[in-house]
Amino acid sequence: MKAGSVMSRGGLLACVLALAACETVQTTQPGTVGVERKQSMLLSAAEVDKSATIAYQQELKKASSKKALNRDPAQVARVRVIALRLVNVTSAFRADAPKWTWETNVITSSDVNAWCMPGGKMAVYTGLIEKLKVTDDELAAVMGHEIAHALREHGRERASQAYAQAVGLSVVGAALGLGQGSMQLAQIVTDVTFNLPNSREHEVEADRIGVELAARAGYDPRAAIALWQKMGQVGGGAPPQFLSTHPSPQNRQKDLAEYAARVMPLYEVARKH
Ligand SMILES: [Zn+2]
Repeated sequence: MKAGSVMSRGGLLACVLALAACETVQTTQPGTVGVERKQSMLLSAAEVDKSATIAYQQELKKASSKKALNRDPAQVARVRVIALRLVNVTSAFRADAPKWTWETNVITSSDVNAWCMPGGKMAVYTGLIEKLKVTDDELAAVMGHEIAHALREHGRERASQAYAQAVGLSVVGAALGLGQGSMQLAQIVTDVTFNLPNSREHEVEADRIGVELAARAGYDPRAAIALWQKMGQVGGGAPPQFLSTHPSPQNRQKDLAEYAARVMPLYEVARKH
């Protein structure tokens, strides 16, 4: 294992705590936006994806029991068309991604929120669509950002860190075997989706990959700038839930403008098709 500057502090901690199975990976190709960083993973992708499927089913069941799942067919269709176009261009970052079992559902909720669990299990809340009065380009910006988190396996990285912390300094966790406890891991996936903030480093990566996905799918990448502005203005005092799990990195607007400009040629090509 190569420790050192390439590894985040949390990642290093995860590896130290579980001396056994730590893996250093590059989850994605750099793309036009040039995102590159070695990532340390304690949990396997298969394990995390399985737990995400459990966590996702729980969320859908909860929404369904409140009659809050996919209530407006036109809205669901709109969101799914955008998701499909974005998923179709994920191969620019990962050859395997278009074949993942992506799912997109719309949840009726006043919360301004959207998320994508590991493996491509997405949800968009009506609060985000309606309170921000999002255009298709802006919706593509949010979903592109969420899909980018999944492509980069940020959830797996964060779950690895949370898992290591849950196991604590004891070696009991390693002795138990990491293959066990899908339910426990599903709880961790739920936590990283709803409660624990992404790191600013993850946010920058998701912003940059997100604008490229949008551009390649034929959505104006500059819409991300307006989207984040709207996000910051909504709520009247209480910031939207989305911002608690997606903290604003420094210079987000400037960074988005710079990277949106860089991928404009991809957008010009895509919109001609
Ligand atoms: Zn984010």
